[in-house]
Amino acid sequence: MHCPFCGAVDTKVIDSRLVSEGNHVRRRRECITCEERFTTYESAELVMPRIIKQNGIREPFNEDKLLAGLNKALEKRPVSIESVEEAVNRIKANLRSTGEREIPSRTVGEQVTKELRELDEVAYVRFASVYRSFKDLAEFRAEIDKLSKDTP
Ligand SMILES: [Zn+2]
Repeated sequence: MHCPFCGAVDTKVIDSRLVSEGNHVRRRRECITCEERFTTYESAELVMPRIIKQNGIREPFNEDKLLAGLNKALEKRPVSIESVEEAVNRIKANLRSTGEREIPSRTVGEQVTKELRELDEVAYVRFASVYRSFKDLAEFRAEIDKLSKDTP
């Protein structure tokens, strides 16, 4: 994003928020060279961050892949398609609103874990065990114990 005052290439995002029902992102930027501030409105499609995989390779954000991951965890669980779509939209909105151009895949995984926890506990445990967001078995077990205690 070029600075409209001096044309410098390096600008930093100082504030980032979703506007018009999440379709656009309004960003306050500051030029690193001349320190002028300006606002940009970017369409959500353009600002979906790239994903940094564990091996360091960058790839474009893939909504189908995200949906497939959620659906796999939710297989044969009583969760509506609408709820899953809402979860996908929330995850996308969260990733966009960071204002980052690249996001570690782990961050996406954490978002998915959080959404699944709200949607369905079985799916959550399925996903978490595959995704290995737990450091070891003891931590995983502690999480399952916590879940069974929470269940009325
Ligand atoms: Zn400038």
